[in-house]
Order: sequence, then C-alpha cells, then structure tokens
Amino acid sequence: MSQKFRRIGVLTSGGDAPGMNAAVRAVARAAIQKGVEVVAIYEGYKGLITENLKVIGNRDVSNILNVGGTALYSDRCLEFKTEEGMQKAIDTCKKYEIDGIVAIGGDGTFRGATDLSWRGIPTIGIPATIDNDITSTDYALGFDTAMNTVLGLGDKLRDTCESHARCNVIEVMGRNAGYIALQTGIALGASAIVLRECDFDEAAALEKIKASKAEGKRNFIVIVAEGVPDFAEGFAKKIQAETGIETKFCRPAHIVRGGSPTLRDRLIASQYAEKAVELLLAGKSDVVVCMRDGKIVETDISYALILDRMYKGTLKEGDLDKFTPEQVEAMKAFCAMRDAEFKEMYALSDLISH
Ligand code: ADP
Repeated sequence: MSQKFRRIGVLTSGGDAPGMNAAVRAVARAAIQKGVEVVAIYEGYKGLITENLKVIGNRDVSNILNVGGTALYSDRCLEFKTEEGMQKAIDTCKKYEIDGIVAIGGDGTFRGATDLSWRGIPTIGIPATIDNDITSTDYALGFDTAMNTVLGLGDKLRDTCESHARCNVIEVMGRNAGYIALQTGIALGASAIVLRECDFDEAAALEKIKASKAEGKRNFIVIVAEGVPDFAEGFAKKIQAETGIETKFCRPAHIVRGGSPTLRDRLIASQYAEKAVELLLAGKSDVVVCMRDGKIVETDISYALILDRMYKGTLKEGDLDKFTPEQVEAMKAFCAMRDAEFKEMYALSDLISH
C-alpha cells in the first residue's frame, strides 16, 4: 500500500439507487481491512462543502447491505460545480486529511470526480443509477432491483388484467434511456414496448393487440419509457378507442428507485467497491470501475464521459480532439455494438409479443 493513503472518503451522489449502501459498506470494510481509515461524506459532494463527514468503523456500516436508498444521503449540489465550491471541497479534504475518494453515482458524479482528481484529490467512480445509462459499463448498481420492482408491479397488473380482459400501460423510469423498459417489457411479456432508441410502429402495435384479442388473449401489458415524453397516457386512451379493450394507465415513478437491493446489486456493489479501493490505493485516479463481459475493469472517466456522449448523440465540438484516431474508432465500434445489442433485444420483444 502506498504510504500516501492513510485516510479515504466515500460518498454517494446524484440520483439514489439500491445497492449504493452495499457499495459503501464494502468500500469501508475493504479499506479498513487494509489499514486505511474511512471518512463517510454525507449528502454527496455537498458534504465536502459543509464539512458533513465523520470517520467510520466496521460497525458504522452494519445493517445497510440490505437497505435501499443511501445511508450517506445524496444531493444534487450545484455549489460544487462553482470554483468557490470546488475550492471549499478541496480545503475540506486537506483539513480532514482525506487522501482520496470513492464516489458512487452517475455521470454527473463522475464529472465531479474528475474535477477533484485534477485538483490533487485522487477519486475513483462506481457506477450507480437505476437507468443503467452509463455507456462504458454493462452494469450500473440499482438497475436489477429497479427492474425487479417493475416486474413485481407488472405481474400484479397482469393478474387483474387477465380477470377483467384489460390492458395496462405502464410508464417506467429510465430518464432518456430505455433499458428498464426494454428488459422489463420482455420479462413481462409486453404486447408493445415504446422507447426512444427504436422506432415504434403504432398502427402495427394496435393491429397486433387486436389480433391477439381475436385469438382469445385477455391480458395486455404495454411498457413505455419515460424518455418518450407525453405519450403513455394518450396511448392508453388510443388503445381503448381503437381495440375496444378497457385500458388503464399506471406510472410507478419513484417507487422503482427504492427497495431492498437484489442479490445481483449487492454482489456487484461489493465487487465494484473492492476494485475501487484497490485502484485508489494503487495510486489510480480519475477512473470509473466498469463491468465488461462479466469482468470488472477500469475506464478513464474522460473516455467514459465522451463515449457516453457519442452513444447518446450529444458530442460537442472538440470532444474527440484529445483522443487518438484509434481510440475514436474503438469508441465508434463500441457504440455500434451497444446499439446492435439494444436493437437485437427489441426485435426479440417484438417477435414474441403476440
Ligand atoms: P448523477 O451522478 O446521478 O448523474 P447528477 O448529474 O445530479 O447525478 O450529478 C451529481 C452531482 O455531481 C451534482 O449534484 C454535482 O454536485 C456533481 N456534478 C455534476 N456535474 C458536475 C460537473 N460538471 N462538475 C463538477 N461536479 C459535477
């Protein structure tokens, strides 16, 4: 272990996600086992500005492994983005002798991690967002739990739809991404899935529902991603009008953010945390821990953020300038692979939704 790391901080920031607590616990335990003190920083980056932090021991992270939300609380701290706020955060790190930080959150959190790293506080990111919309990683903490919550709700709606020969349109979270909608749609046997990433043929979907009804199908579930604005409720009305099937609308909203994390979220949180501590103590900085093909790897945050923008079509002028042509090609190939994976799964959902 590098002599440099006597004390590290851990924080959760941005949108909360089940599994964050499991990650905090494992960061703390892994670091303490390696002889490093751990400081819990509360309310995300805000805690560095308000000095809301304390040294914790093994027992301070007891009984949080199985709990949703985040015991360290979270905050969307705008002040941290200002020069004054950032300087205050750095001063706090110096005052409390915090030699490095593990920051658990989404892409906003990673931008903050980069800012800290560049100013001399090595910071490692752990991806956590129920939306799973961080392009550089196959998996972000919270996704599995959120999907299982949607699955539970959808199964219940299916029961009652079957009894009454009804349809239920469910709008699910995911910000601009359709991962939750796509995977829960397949698992719920949805008659249609509507999301931004794939074209939706509304007329064909209505015809398909009518044809299934004619065959004797009684329950219909339609999943709409929240990233498709002002659509779901109106579509429920349209289904009823065009097919004659009584159609209800349901928006579980923030219910899917909470709840006890699944095995997958607890397990991957623990693995990500161990890797993050290992990287930090090995002198790494400004990287995010990622899952690729079942392996836990590290990615430079600058690379991860630009890859994300490329995939989401939000690249700004000059974004690619600092990368080699080979890196840019690799990014393009990666985005094409993600896109193909998504479209393949969407085609599957369409194939079997009759
Ligand atoms: P998420 O991490 O889930 O994407 P946010 O985008 O809200 O959530 O970001 C979480 C926090 O990270 C913000 O409240 C802010 O404190 C910090 N942050 C976000 N963007 C930046 C940035 N460009 N520079 C520095 N800090 C940032």
